[in-house]
Amino acid sequence: MRKPVFGGNWKMNKMVKESIEAVKQLKEELGDVERVEVAIFPPFTSLWAVKKIIEDSRIGLGAQNMYWEEKGAYTGEVSPHMLLDAGCKYVILGHSERRQYFGETDAGVNRKIKAALSLGLTPVVCVGESLKEREAGRAEEVVESQVKKCLEGLDLQQIKKLIIAYEPVWAIGTGKIATPHQAQEMHSFIRGILEELWGKKICSSMRIQYGGSVKPENIKELMKQPDIDGALVGGASLIINSFVKIVKYEE
Ligand code: PEP
Repeated sequence: MRKPVFGGNWKMNKMVKESIEAVKQLKEELGDVERVEVAIFPPFTSLWAVKKIIEDSRIGLGAQNMYWEEKGAYTGEVSPHMLLDAGCKYVILGHSERRQYFGETDAGVNRKIKAALSLGLTPVVCVGESLKEREAGRAEEVVESQVKKCLEGLDLQQIKKLIIAYEPVWAIGTGKIATPHQAQEMHSFIRGILEELWGKKICSSMRIQYGGSVKPENIKELMKQPDIDGALVGGASLIINSFVKIVKYEE
């Protein structure tokens, strides 16, 4: 049985004060949640303040990105060691916005994954095709290449610690959502790739989240799919009531 995992990616939103207010509400609603795993990904500037609020709860803390080096002359970057120091357990890597606006590559994501894992951080590795690629019938080819390149060289012990997030780029922040069938098809395809490379035993227990315009109205149907193990939520996670409804999709 795979425990569903829900992440709230706040992206470049919320000042420290707003983050504190939001996470206090989140803690009240979800602080002792056990049935699923919940993680919140505030901007770097709010990590420490959010950590102080959730440290005695079951809500986990994550960052939206990191660099792979420990320290040094890398102006503007944040290391995995710094994330641990700030209380993070998770880190989102390879988000499509980072690929699109900041030139992130699969090879770079691969280095980041290895650095995160070496310190015990759980990477949430994002993959997903663009609309152009889907319309050209290349969705599977693109996602397969991302999965293989991002995870290249990882051993069994490392692979089982990852969370994969399938986020079709055309569904992120657009209000367009993959149908439960489309999402299931790709999740099952991704699990197949993982199983082929690392074996069925480990990969049948790996969690694959769906991401892309997830809302309280569409989560239930997505979660009925056998290979969808939770969601990475952007826009709807900024409104705590919505995020709580998504996490409590069964109620
Ligand atoms: C995301 O940023 O990971 C995401 C899925 O965004 P949204 O839910 O807003 O589409």
